[in-house]
Amino acid sequence: MNAAVEAAAAAFPGWRDTPVVERARVMFRYRQLIEESFDSLCASVSREHGKTLAEARGSLFRGMENVEYACGSPSLLMGDTLENIARGVDCETLLQPLGICVGITPFNFPAMVPLWMFPLALVCGNTFVLKPSEKVPLTAVMLVELLEKAGLPYGVLNLVHGGRECVDALLTHPKVRAISFVGSTPVARHIYETGTRHGKRVQANGGAKNYIVVMPDADVPRTVESLSTAAFGCAGERCMAGSTALTVGTAAERLLPSLVEAARAIKVGPTDRAAQPDMGPLITAPHRDRVASLVAAGESEGAKVIADGRGVRVNEAPGGFYFGPTVVDQVQPGMTIAREEVFGPVLNVMRMDDLDSAIEIANRSAYGNGAAIFTNSGKAAREFKYRVKAGMVGINVGVPATMAMFPFTGWEESFFGDLHIQGREGVQFYTQQKVISTRWFGEGVGDVWKK
Ligand code: NAD
Repeated sequence: MNAAVEAAAAAFPGWRDTPVVERARVMFRYRQLIEESFDSLCASVSREHGKTLAEARGSLFRGMENVEYACGSPSLLMGDTLENIARGVDCETLLQPLGICVGITPFNFPAMVPLWMFPLALVCGNTFVLKPSEKVPLTAVMLVELLEKAGLPYGVLNLVHGGRECVDALLTHPKVRAISFVGSTPVARHIYETGTRHGKRVQANGGAKNYIVVMPDADVPRTVESLSTAAFGCAGERCMAGSTALTVGTAAERLLPSLVEAARAIKVGPTDRAAQPDMGPLITAPHRDRVASLVAAGESEGAKVIADGRGVRVNEAPGGFYFGPTVVDQVQPGMTIAREEVFGPVLNVMRMDDLDSAIEIANRSAYGNGAAIFTNSGKAAREFKYRVKAGMVGINVGVPATMAMFPFTGWEESFFGDLHIQGREGVQFYTQQKVISTRWFGEGVGDVWKK
């Protein structure tokens, strides 16, 4: 870890002096190389995480859009100027790099989440140390090798594998200036508290519990399709998974039969074969067992399992960590399964009398990552987007995860810090502003200070 930080420190002066258009040019080449290696990168994402190839492709596209955004760095890094703020005095802002930045990433998006971080940090003139999840170490190696091939100088991006001890070394290292983290809430809090205590700038994305309100007037087939994708896509292992449906009034009766049918129709299986399933396995056996125990807890606390993915049989790969799509109805606010992030293909259903009580339940959550509403009523949608306590809101969009040009705006315990990942906030995070006030003495037109 020290060697990586020292390499980043040694590379910083040269990289910082590299003109911004040249830094951007490396990203243009990188984008091209990612496109050329698209299939092998997706195969690696799918192999290490277990998501389907189609899901891997979708996530790599999202990651690549971050590289494309970083290609715009010459415009993104422009400062402001204002002439004559006082007699003969002009003012300008410069956005300068911080120095060594660090990225610590989770298992569920082996390519996309690292790509949220280092492309933007690098075009801003920083050097970087990446510590990917120890559960998915291989795709990150491919990403770094491709950037080397694109012409990134030695030491500008460094990759170190490891777990907690590596992270702690980075959090306290005196030469590290900024830390980007994505992972679970307890670790995000630890990263934020320890990093800031050691004087670092920190952005730490945490876990989530995202609510989807379904109004009685929602379009049933489209809502079922979106809910099913939101809850079961990537086997529910995503921070923007729609894990609780808050059905208002008659919405439950209209929706649940087709939703249960859709859940049962999802084919679960290994993702490394030519015939692709709809859903792959979970990341580890302990994680699968935790998901099962949360469903069991819900059942023992009075909820009803109306589609049961426990004990799903996959004959082609009997040892895999599979868990089938599960729908748990009649979940009540105090239940364990209502409070804890499940991070598996489990959709809770909570039945609500009206929109007010649905918003109240959503707003009681400790998290605040995403929230969505399905309705044909502009009034209900307006009310929801105005009042709901979440950073990313979907209106008839089940997974309102933001794209590269917008910040990834988790609230509450889904985010610790001030400046979010991605977009202009990302640029602000990876730069520090310098404001220059200039006055020149002498005779001539500009010599107005004497007047
Ligand atoms: P995790 O918190 O276990 O691990 C994330 C990273 O932190 C890994 O690199 C890991 O090595 C490191 N780490 C783990 N324990 C640590 C500790 N005690 N001290 C220091 N470092 C530690 O998360 P995960 O299981 O890999 O990922 C799933 C979680 O990530 C879910 O909670 C999910 O909601 C969240 N997530 C959030 C977002 C978001 O943008 N909000 C995006 C993706 C995933």
